[in-house]
Amino acid sequence: MEIDEFQGQQITADDADYDTARAVWNGAIDRFPRLIARCSGAADVAAAVRFAREHDLEIAVRGGGHNVAGTAVCDDGIVIDLSAMRAVRVDPDRRTAQVQGGALWGDVDRPTQAHGLATTGGIVSHTGVAGLTLGGGIGWLMRKHGLTVDNLLAAEVVTADGELLRASEDQHPDLFWALRGGGGNFGVVTSFELRLHPVGPEVLAGPVLWDAGDTAEVLRFYRDFVRDAPDELGTVVRFGTAPPLPVVPLELHWRPVLLVGACYAGPVADAEAVLRPLRAFGRPLLDLIAPSPYVNHQSALDSTVLHGWSYYWKSTYLPELGDDLIEVIAEHAFACTSPRSYAAMFHLGGAVGRVPEAATAFGNRQVSHAITLDAVWRRGEDHADRDIAWTRRFFAALDSYREGVYVNFLGADEGPDRIRDAYGAGVYDRLVDVKTKYDSNNVFHHNQNIRPR
Ligand SMILES: Cc1cc2nc3c(=O)[nH]c(=O)nc-3n(C[C@H](O)[C@H](O)[C@H](O)COP(=O)(O)OP(=O)(O)OC[C@H]3O[C@@H](n4cnc5c(N)ncnc54)[C@H](O)[C@@H]3O)c2cc1C
Repeated sequence: MEIDEFQGQQITADDADYDTARAVWNGAIDRFPRLIARCSGAADVAAAVRFAREHDLEIAVRGGGHNVAGTAVCDDGIVIDLSAMRAVRVDPDRRTAQVQGGALWGDVDRPTQAHGLATTGGIVSHTGVAGLTLGGGIGWLMRKHGLTVDNLLAAEVVTADGELLRASEDQHPDLFWALRGGGGNFGVVTSFELRLHPVGPEVLAGPVLWDAGDTAEVLRFYRDFVRDAPDELGTVVRFGTAPPLPVVPLELHWRPVLLVGACYAGPVADAEAVLRPLRAFGRPLLDLIAPSPYVNHQSALDSTVLHGWSYYWKSTYLPELGDDLIEVIAEHAFACTSPRSYAAMFHLGGAVGRVPEAATAFGNRQVSHAITLDAVWRRGEDHADRDIAWTRRFFAALDSYREGVYVNFLGADEGPDRIRDAYGAGVYDRLVDVKTKYDSNNVFHHNQNIRPR
């Protein structure tokens, strides 16, 4: 089985690197595609799509391979693998970056920060740009600069017919709208054009840690603190053990802690005053907030979520944290068994909520927080069943507070209702229209699928 006139690498089970090539970030995913078409450019992508259709092969599209649901790889079909397409070209005058469809966030942050520029990206630098952007894109900078999709200026897309289109506000605007939140349903994006903003290069950023027993007290403070926070302040709360990083003193390693990570996307001098109350609150075990290069902050969490470990997530959006919701979180957040399992809660608002709901296909812009409940285990460890049950119990306890879900945090097979929840009825129905127009045969269905009519 071979694609003609394909410039990249074609990998099958007979090749020595097959097992490496089929592995994705989530080690719990173990699938055996018939062919991995590692593309060298848009022409290869188009050839792979046409080949798959001619041979009636299921298609999986791989950007960074980071999605917890493992949709970047399929059994028996073809993986259209963009991992060799990671080039990033920065235009500092226009403040834009041209990013190939297989790039990771680390590939974007380094060259853009060389010019003191950045755009909203993921908080782990080995996450793929493509999947993250197509689902919306939340990160430290979103309250100031919007979601990643709010900074998407254009995309080059190979459609289900193998045609290469450019989508922007002026060209195929319906497709451009759908790409900004609708995931990989509409084609294979070979290149993204992203708007950049002056950021750093030095920012005041880092985490403050408190003992897990202080969770309710800290969250009540945190609720009021972020309610009035300026847009420059991005925060993520992490519930788990203190990671054994060199910057964390040995005696805190693996201790259950509540961690509030912060990044101020503005002058360090302004940030000091904004962050002072957070750093002074209660009895912090450790305060690692310090001026640091933005690019370093972007990779600070990388080693806490390594490739090849196994993961299972449940996730939901949440409203502002009322006292009762805080009690629910405090009761469940530390009830897992693996020292690597954790929950992470992103604070949204700011610029995210100021973009009109109909402007992009990202749903639920008005929510306050996105929380993921993440069971983590390594091969040979017996945490899986207990911690998967923990995520489900925690999720059930949040039931009456749930307000939709971020599509990129959905697990495998959560069902069509949850995909609908990610968008809300109005956005979802419009996505179905665009899907029907650009992919009426549902060629791109190995994803959080929006079915054509
Ligand atoms: C540890 C971790 C941290 C994360 N942090 C954040 C965060 O801070 N902010 C955030 O918003 N999200 C975050 N995410 C979620 C992330 O957005 C998704 O996992 C996303 O799918 C990753 O993109 P990828 O390209 O690596 O995905 P992949 O696994 O490669 O692909 C997932 C799906 O995206 C589609 N896709 C991928 N590439 C393309 C392409 N070139 N063209 C068309 N469709 C494509 C396909 O449908 C594919 O099935 C995080 C995930 C993890 C595991």
